[in-house]
Amino acid sequence: ARHDALGEATLGELAQALRGVLIRPEDPSYDEARSIWNGAHDKLPAAVVQCHGVADVLRGVEFARSEGLSLAIRGGGHSIPGFSTSDGGLVLDLSAMNGVRVDPDRRRIVAQAGCLWRDVDVEAQAFGLAVTGGLVSTTGIAGFTLGGGIGWLVRRCGLTCDNLVGADIVTADGQYLHTSEDEHPDLLWALRGGGGNFGVVTSFEFRAHEVGPTVFSGLVFYRGEDAAQVLQGFGEAAANAPDELSLAVNLTTAPPLPFLPEEIHGKPIVAVLGVWSGRTEDGDAATKPFRGLAPVVADVFGPMPYVAMQSLLDPLYPRGMWNYFRSAFFSDLGATTVDALISSYSEAPNAVSELHIHHLGGAMGRVPADATAFGTRDREYILNVVARTPDSAGFDGVVEWARSASAALGPDAASYVNFTGEASDERVRASYPPATYARLAAVKGRYDPTNLFRLNQNIPPSVS
Ligand code: FAD
Repeated sequence: ARHDALGEATLGELAQALRGVLIRPEDPSYDEARSIWNGAHDKLPAAVVQCHGVADVLRGVEFARSEGLSLAIRGGGHSIPGFSTSDGGLVLDLSAMNGVRVDPDRRRIVAQAGCLWRDVDVEAQAFGLAVTGGLVSTTGIAGFTLGGGIGWLVRRCGLTCDNLVGADIVTADGQYLHTSEDEHPDLLWALRGGGGNFGVVTSFEFRAHEVGPTVFSGLVFYRGEDAAQVLQGFGEAAANAPDELSLAVNLTTAPPLPFLPEEIHGKPIVAVLGVWSGRTEDGDAATKPFRGLAPVVADVFGPMPYVAMQSLLDPLYPRGMWNYFRSAFFSDLGATTVDALISSYSEAPNAVSELHIHHLGGAMGRVPADATAFGTRDREYILNVVARTPDSAGFDGVVEWARSASAALGPDAASYVNFTGEASDERVRASYPPATYARLAAVKGRYDPTNLFRLNQNIPPSVS
């Protein structure tokens, strides 16, 4: 095994030097320590370093480099392509680094890279603040922010990465850098959408916004047979939607929830869901155009604590299932697109595979294309094809379905690194315009010329 080749003495020295914990294959906690959210990636790392601070990250990076080990970086462990684990390599798990400091006067949040969205949401809400965060509260802030970050405040506050004003990072040569608009601005630019290519971020600083504590939010359900009417109507209403409203439409199967009539459980259903983050008393009127698009099966929109809305969907995305995501940006919900979406969904291989259509634009769309490394801002929507199976049975089939469902929106549609289940060069290139890709490759060449950080949506370094 790899750890024998490494030598007990070498690993022992590393363990001694750490503040945190080194977990090896023989340790009882190894199986838990090596597992990630996506059950499709069951790998056997040589060791997992549970980092307790920047010192451990520095040690871990140095160790991987000097031993020639592949290096996986883990925040919340929600990577769909399984980048936060590796066979025979070293995993730096930052989940114990979950401190959050909120500065209410300056409206800033400094969060360590192991935080989950729940950590940041709860701390920030204590001061009536928030930054665009994940739809599922157990997702890590690190991978999420570095890839972009689409959440319920995206139209009002922009992507998460649009609110990233600084970061601390350990680079491949073992330097510890602070990046901001004034210090290493090229690196900050790359961290805003370019993924985990540039080093190990140890903490993020976000601009925060006044949100909540209550937001008018929830879901409204329509019958599957009304999907075309709902999608077209959604497109028309969305064209006039204010920035405070961020919504999505899911083509899915009715879960056995008490507020859904029993005869519809297990049948195709359309859910319109999301958040109005303006004044709560204006929420009913603001969401109305989306809550009567067809005969309503159930309407559970209403005032809700922001933190509650941020974890409402958690039970639907349990850890351990086999998952594959595929995405495509698109411009409108005209008849051709609606037909394509409905026909794709009609071929969904099982009840847990679904289509999510997020309405974008607003503040996200107004950020200049070259201001960050995030690839696509000029499209009003993104399709996220969520394909999954309880275990390995049938997984290849759902992957095939996801590929064809995203391709149905145009073979050249741009994609989003965080909604992408595989790491091919073709998929990474599809996520960035050529000029952005070239600039990312140049930054990579400056900060990671040997491509130490390659377990990610990899951008190989270019040499200038
Ligand atoms: P990890 O697996 O820990 O990390 C993923 C990758 O990010 C790593 O392999 C590495 O390349 C990089 N990385 C992680 N930590 C660091 C670090 N400290 N320094 C440098 N690089 C690092 N995306 C959205 O935009 N909006 C959503 O609403 C949304 N919902 C989701 C819901 C679920 C249930 C899941 C599974 C995913 C969702 N995503 C969403 C996608 C999500 O943004 C990505 O999966 C993201 O990578 C998760 O981040 P993480 O820290 O949990 O993942």
